[in-house]
Amino acid sequence: MTTPPRRSKPCEQCGRPFEDRKRWSGRDQWDDVRYCSRRCRGEAAAARRRTRSDGGASA
Ligand SMILES: [Zn+2]
Repeated sequence: MTTPPRRSKPCEQCGRPFEDRKRWSGRDQWDDVRYCSRRCRGEAAAARRRTRSDGGASA
């Protein structure tokens, strides 16, 4: 059997490309991973909250 090449994609938060990890490969979590680290994930979540609360004009 041939070993599949390592996949990589840019982090949606910092823009840096990162490769898949052992914990992600094997499972189908790679498509679900968008950020290179938990920190970027947290920052992205925080940014979303700001944008979200900022868009509510009528409440
Ligand atoms: Zn990142």
